[in-house]
Amino acid sequence: MDDENQGLWSKGSFVETTSPAETEKKMRTFHMKHDEEMDYNCKKCNVKISAHNKDWHDNMCDGCFNGTYFPDEESDTE
Ligand SMILES: [Zn+2]
Repeated sequence: MDDENQGLWSKGSFVETTSPAETEKKMRTFHMKHDEEMDYNCKKCNVKISAHNKDWHDNMCDGCFNGTYFPDEESDTE
């Protein structure tokens, strides 16, 4: 049973959904600063985000991204 399900997740299938051109485009923003090209909006709180956050933080600002993906790691905002 499990073997059949694992077939859906055969190695490489996820990576292939991103074309080389797409990856190259994302790599452009990888080394950008978090405040460079603030041309986008956080999909959660609508605050201005950078191209880096758009590509690498799932279209979210740092706060929303961390809260979504690392909810256990409370920041020192309290
Ligand atoms: Zn946000």
